[in-house]
Amino acid sequence: MKAIAKEAIRAVIFDLDGTLYRGKKAIEGAAECIAKLRKAGIMIFFLSNAGTNKREEMARKLIAMGIDAKPEEVYSSAYGAARYIRERYGKGSRFYAIAEKSMIEELEGFGLYFDDEKPDAVVVSLDRNANYGKIAKAYLLVKSGAEFIATNKDPDYPVENGSMPGAGAIVAAVEASVQKKPTLIGKPETRLIDWMLHDRKLKKSEVLLVGDSLITDVAVAKKSGIKSALVLSGITTEKQIKKTRIKPDAVLRSVKELPRMLL
Ligand SMILES: [Mg+2]
Repeated sequence: MKAIAKEAIRAVIFDLDGTLYRGKKAIEGAAECIAKLRKAGIMIFFLSNAGTNKREEMARKLIAMGIDAKPEEVYSSAYGAARYIRERYGKGSRFYAIAEKSMIEELEGFGLYFDDEKPDAVVVSLDRNANYGKIAKAYLLVKSGAEFIATNKDPDYPVENGSMPGAGAIVAAVEASVQKKPTLIGKPETRLIDWMLHDRKLKKSEVLLVGDSLITDVAVAKKSGIKSALVLSGITTEKQIKKTRIKPDAVLRSVKELPRMLL
């Protein structure tokens, strides 16, 4: 764990599920960890592939668990999709989405308009009311020139007693029909981290990402050129770390151990 020079770290990016909470329950020590880091002047960010909620809602969920969070610290794939479309096509541009209500509100909150006739972009995310009609609509619009965007391709997401199909399942249906890869917003793409560094003028060497997944969290940190700490409170087992070629800079039992490593 000597790989991380603690004086150098000015910002910590936290993954959410499996790192700060599991389902609706905070990981033991998560609230104290965030509070201690903030007190020491370390910037906090929350990085999530979730494409179903607004930043405000995600911050509120953390606050309800006792974890201090601000909406502007949340970089989710839903937020990223909205920002991407606005930066690329401008305010007032149009989108069609296979997505849930909050995601569509996030896009509209960026000054973008829902349009199922001639949109600039088609955003595909997790939509638990997805059906053939929506997939057909996305297919036809991408075929006639709209940019195909996916918030994330997560195969599944955790629920109380296991997991359920994620955005990846719906993206795959559209991808198979249009025979084209989408512009991907969330992990393992580096777009959200690039924006964080840019927004807060941070150097790569000053940032540490903490997450529970080797293939999304540690992989995106490596691709972004920032350091990573893997926590064992989520989906990765100690056995998997021994086998993997994607090596984190540090391994912790949970975020409870993070202040001791950094402060
Ligand atoms: Mg996770």
